[in-house]
Amino acid sequence: MTFQPRGIEHDHEIDLNGALDFINTLDLDDGVLVENFHEPADAAAWFLDHHLIHPHDGPAWTPADLEHARAVRSALRDVVDSVVLDRAPAAESLRVVNETLELGPRPHLDLDGETVRIGHRHVASPASEALVPIAHAIVAELASGRPDRFRICANDRCQWTFFDASPTGRRRWCDMKTCGNRAKAARHRARARAHDASPAPASEPRPT
Ligand SMILES: [Zn+2]
Repeated sequence: MTFQPRGIEHDHEIDLNGALDFINTLDLDDGVLVENFHEPADAAAWFLDHHLIHPHDGPAWTPADLEHARAVRSALRDVVDSVVLDRAPAAESLRVVNETLELGPRPHLDLDGETVRIGHRHVASPASEALVPIAHAIVAELASGRPDRFRICANDRCQWTFFDASPTGRRRWCDMKTCGNRAKAARHRARARAHDASPAPASEPRPT
């Protein structure tokens, strides 16, 4: 009797940063809440880009799939926020995350002549199944990673979630080039305003 894996055609995975990117698809863009998933096709395109669905599954995404993806996204956001802000998540968020974790494919053995093929059995639609690795990545970090390194960008007008993998664990911004520089620029403007507000020296005669 031989045992053979069936292949890796459904080996859809995402890393923690990808999972946090998913959360950030409901996005504060310079203080304005931006929904990146307007239509089912927007969400399907994101999942396709991240290799979580097959190209032929994309067009099948329904408005219900979109609502489901948004609900899981907000539940995961609540869980990450609860860790960063040291508060309890909503019970409903935990229910949604737990429900998501149960939608993954189950290992399954099939007898094929003298060979047992090790495959899997799907219990959910491709759209629902695509959410599972995302929830897994977040929960795995909570369970056995460094949940104290979850962060919310210190830029109030951004608030992206990110994972601080820096050696010192003191990263404050999702991206130094954008939010970090913006914060520096804001401090610079504040200093400049404070300087402008101070009593002006006697004005020089204008050059003519
Ligand atoms: Zn940011």
